[in-house]
Amino acid sequence: MSFDFVKKLDFESEFFDLYKLSESAYGAIGKENSGMGGNAGFIDIEDYLIIIDTTANVDAAKDLKKAAIQYTQKEPNFIVITHYHMDHLMGTSLFDKSTQIMTSDRTLKNIQTDGKKRIEEYKNMDLTEMEDTLKNETDEAKKKDIENDLKFLKAVRSDDFSLREPNLTFKEGCVIYGKGESVQLRTFKKAHTDGDVIVYIPEEKVLFAGDLLFAREDPWLGSGDPEGWISVNDEIMTLDFKVVVPGHGELASKEQFSLENKYIKEILDLVKKRIDAGEDPTQLKREDFSDELQSFDSQLLEWNLNFLAEFLKKS
Ligand SMILES: [Zn+2]
Repeated sequence: MSFDFVKKLDFESEFFDLYKLSESAYGAIGKENSGMGGNAGFIDIEDYLIIIDTTANVDAAKDLKKAAIQYTQKEPNFIVITHYHMDHLMGTSLFDKSTQIMTSDRTLKNIQTDGKKRIEEYKNMDLTEMEDTLKNETDEAKKKDIENDLKFLKAVRSDDFSLREPNLTFKEGCVIYGKGESVQLRTFKKAHTDGDVIVYIPEEKVLFAGDLLFAREDPWLGSGDPEGWISVNDEIMTLDFKVVVPGHGELASKEQFSLENKYIKEILDLVKKRIDAGEDPTQLKREDFSDELQSFDSQLLEWNLNFLAEFLKKS
């Protein structure tokens, strides 16, 4: 989607395209198959430079830091982490203690529990199966995906990898005041994860949604609460904004939250119906969804079906 007020900048990175979204906000949108993981961005409010998320890839985070310094002539004062998933967190250790890392208290807790558990799992994983699959894979895009996953896992396993944890947290929200504009951080009930954070600049109508928005893609439901997510999206849609940096996918507008809600409602409904009929819900196909959702194209559909089959059986 293109927005007439958004300017694509000519910053060179193999990982992302950089956009100037408003007077103070910049969005870094991951290039396809680049291995960047989650989108990121930064905000320059005169006195402070705020980075939003640090991607799945330390090299991508290096580019992000470089771009932020180049376009603002400042050193980063804050990093906001939108949630605990590793594809948004890998670059935190690139920033020294002069950069404060902020998030919600529930996200910090999740980093310290689930996040750390995942890192241990990644460290103990046997990679030979993935390496074999890579050797036999002929599809170029799939090959690139496996290569990126391997690169990510190897980075986590390397001796010099460390994660810097957030050192400033809030329960419900927090505001960073600039001279003209303010940056609002807010958290909600459990949705994509427990403790998701959005970054909102009301004066400029810009929103960084973290993974509360997967634009035109299957949203990953398996770490959160799908019903809660629908109501959080309804709440977000009451805010006044004209452009969103989603956690994954291209720059978006408010309508994408409605479309995401449509997806979540539909998949819940389809899975429930299959379970009630005594059928296997994991056999659902993309074609079972309505037309508007046909273009969502990712392996997450299969993951979501597997997750919901268990989740809804329990509830
Ligand atoms: Zn996520």
